[in-house]
Amino acid sequence: MTLITVDKVSRIYDDRQRKTQVTALDNVSLTVGRNEFLCLLGPSGCGKSTLLNMIAGFDMPTQGTVNVGGQVVQGPGADRGVVFQQPNLMPWLPVWENVAFHLKMQNMGKALRRERVQRFIEMVGLKGFENHFPSELSGGMNQRVGIARALLMNPEVILMDEPFGALDEQTKMDMHAELVRIWRESKSTIVFVTHGIDESLALGTHVAVMSARPGRIRELIPIELDRP
Ligand code: ADP
Ligand code: ADP
Repeated sequence: MTLITVDKVSRIYDDRQRKTQVTALDNVSLTVGRNEFLCLLGPSGCGKSTLLNMIAGFDMPTQGTVNVGGQVVQGPGADRGVVFQQPNLMPWLPVWENVAFHLKMQNMGKALRRERVQRFIEMVGLKGFENHFPSELSGGMNQRVGIARALLMNPEVILMDEPFGALDEQTKMDMHAELVRIWRESKSTIVFVTHGIDESLALGTHVAVMSARPGRIRELIPIELDRP
């Protein structure tokens, strides 16, 4: 079942300094099915982040439309959780409060909130670290907090923009295994931006290969791998 439809999307930016225009995306069409793990792969500047931002609703197409779960994207929404390269945690709040951050804005009973926060802290493997502060945790653990925070709102899709780009190789590999497990357990749909071929093959059920000038999807490859 299709969850995301990108329909003939172009995004043209004005480059005011050079008094010219940049076609970041050129007539890109793509569908993502429910429970898929799609990697957007391509070199720097090919439009990966631009495409992810269109799906997130952080930015709007110059032409074309993006549809998520039957609704045209017109801005950010709780149906789309986002994880960036830097998790942007509140350093003065402990792990559980960082995870609970978005829930505070909703009317939810304390006990329910607590149970939900605890469930996602455990899902990302941070049981026992609830009362630690971000500065006391490694980069990989902070990224897990960011993932738990995104999952907590039970979004239809999780959008990730090079979330492990700042991690060392070993931590990155550990996080790959974790993310595949979390993706399965949470039954979510993921769109994951990367410039790493290895990373996209380790994670994706599908890889969309992009190329620059103008930004296009060259190929959409289904990955048929038996994962442990
Ligand atoms: P990637 O994520 O693949 O590295 P981006 O989506 O960030 O690529 O950028 C695609 C192209 O669009 C690049 O040439 C970039 O310089 C340009 N671009 C992105 N955002 C803007 C912006 N806000 N203003 C002008 N140009 C932009
Ligand atoms: P209060 O709002 O009265 O401080 P809370 O139940 O919000 O009560 O928090 C009390 C303490 O319990 C917090 O300081 C924190 O250490 C711990 N705590 C609360 N919620 C969680 C949670 N989901 N996971 C782990 N520890 C929690």
